[in-house]
Amino acid sequence: MTRQPALFVSHGSPMIVVDPSPARDFLVHWGETAVRPDAIVVATAHFDAPGPTLTETRTPPTIHDFGGFPEALYRLRYPAPGDPALAHRAAALLTDAGFAPHLDAARGLDHGAWTPLMLMAPAADIPVVQLSVDSRRDAGWHFAVGKALAPLRDENVLILGSGSLTHNLHDFFGKARAPADAPEPYAEAFAAWVQEAVAAGDITAMLAWESRAPFARRNHPTPEHFLPLFVALGAGAGGAGRRLHGSFSHGILAMDAYGFA
Ligand code: ZN
Repeated sequence: MTRQPALFVSHGSPMIVVDPSPARDFLVHWGETAVRPDAIVVATAHFDAPGPTLTETRTPPTIHDFGGFPEALYRLRYPAPGDPALAHRAAALLTDAGFAPHLDAARGLDHGAWTPLMLMAPAADIPVVQLSVDSRRDAGWHFAVGKALAPLRDENVLILGSGSLTHNLHDFFGKARAPADAPEPYAEAFAAWVQEAVAAGDITAMLAWESRAPFARRNHPTPEHFLPLFVALGAGAGGAGRRLHGSFSHGILAMDAYGFA
């Protein structure tokens, strides 16, 4: 059986599916070169629920959970099937690890899931189960969620975290910037710190990111876009971690991706 990596990707603005960018190129390239998983469990920043909560929707609708974007974005659909059996298997693993998981049989795929997947798996023929983050919980809790789900990797299931390595939307919308503008020093410093901590396998430092990473609160005024990284980190614990992609969108959003073999 193929062993899948655990991945973290930054999804950025929903425009990532239409506008050219280095991060878009990375996601497309990943889809063209990676070993195809049998199914995907995606922890998305836009599914913030008391949890962990897993979707067991059979045919998940595409949720256009954003405002103010061009009409064409709202017409896009990502019709990947759900996988109720996988949702139940994941819930059982979480229960064994001491969690009290919930199952949601109605929720569709939010843009934290479908925008990167539209680039990574454009045929939309790989079943997808969505996993919540819980922004009231800390990094260690999300790490433990990922660790509990790690056995799925040996069943050819991709564990994917989708968030944003840096995510100060106040600065993103408050400053008129071009997509390829140079990064703000506070965002660059944070991204460099994460890269070093992951490369060193320093999980202790990573779990203490709020006090140890430079400009932690400025980069994440609320943590939900950073928490999916800890799900991937937990699912990959014990394996080597490395940055697979690094770029900035509008100088504010680090679009970095990480893989844990
Ligand atoms: Zn987002």
